[in-house]
Amino acid sequence: MNILITGVAGFIGSSLAEKLVELGHSVFGVDNFDTFYKKETKLSNLHNLMQSANFTFLEGDICNKELYKNKIFKHIDIVVHLAARAGVRPSLEIPDKYYESNAIGTIELLEFAKREKIKRFIFASSSSVYGKNPNSPWKEDSELMPISPYAASKISAESIGKVYAHLYNIQFIALRFFTVYGPKQRPDLAIHKFFHKIYNDQAIDFYGDGKTYRDYTYIDDIIHGLIGALFSEELNENFMCFNLGNNKQISLAELVTNIEKIIGKKAILNYLPEQQGDVRSTCADINNSAKYLKYNPKTAIEEGLQSFNKWYLTQNKIN
Ligand code: NAD
Repeated sequence: MNILITGVAGFIGSSLAEKLVELGHSVFGVDNFDTFYKKETKLSNLHNLMQSANFTFLEGDICNKELYKNKIFKHIDIVVHLAARAGVRPSLEIPDKYYESNAIGTIELLEFAKREKIKRFIFASSSSVYGKNPNSPWKEDSELMPISPYAASKISAESIGKVYAHLYNIQFIALRFFTVYGPKQRPDLAIHKFFHKIYNDQAIDFYGDGKTYRDYTYIDDIIHGLIGALFSEELNENFMCFNLGNNKQISLAELVTNIEKIIGKKAILNYLPEQQGDVRSTCADINNSAKYLKYNPKTAIEEGLQSFNKWYLTQNKIN
């Protein structure tokens, strides 16, 4: 199949593209190398893919209507839309930019999908849409109580996706990812930052009392979920929404202890109050994903952290 991946130079996009090329698909990737983190890191994410004859890359912004005139947008079978401004905290500083990339950008891509009669459109949503809803594990129909502009931009994109699904018969599948980690993880995310800082004897910003909880999900499990969403023949509605989490929580304090054990060094903690926009606890109900996507996350946090560490050490010289 011909598969378009937006945000292909990012953590999840490049990991998915590698898997799809390995499975024999033709992957067309778009990315604008936004400045949220270094372009060199994103180029390095693309390095192996660029060697493959089944991978085509186009640098560009999904918000730019001109982009869609490029010939790569012909003959696409399925869209996987991962491009976004992805950090939660910065979204409080530049909410308009988040809305533009994440919501307006999704509309531009849906317009392309409408013109080209794309049958299936997979969208990267986020656990943050549930926000301060206290009743976790969250099911897909749990109340959405967002507390950041980032989360609101993802809800807007889901919502416009539902409208296009209804009006134009595009099957829109929203996948709500729960804190994804593993090799190539974004440098702004906690696990990556913690490894980096502990290895380099720098203090970790430790928000709150350590009793905030996250449902960390390993990248290979997320990729299995994405593959399920791409190829499942059991998705019989035009708009469907699925949680991709691990259904297991660990606290911030436990996370740090686990990383300290792997590195063999104590972390220096810089205690700070909880951050605005951060939710206290996340946990996914994954019964629907198991049923429709055959989703079955297998990676325990200790194992996932070990493979992150292995990857990290190949990328960085440690003193
Ligand atoms: P990432 O930042 O590594 O990848 C996103 C990519 O999108 C980047 O390479 C960026 O340059 C690109 N991009 C941003 N705006 C663009 C635009 N306007 N046009 C073209 N490209 C653009 O992030 P990631 O962690 O790989 O996340 C991928 C998707 O999954 C995002 O939509 C994110 O919101 C969502 N998500 C991620 C997590 C997680 O834990 N990583 C959790 C929930 C949801």
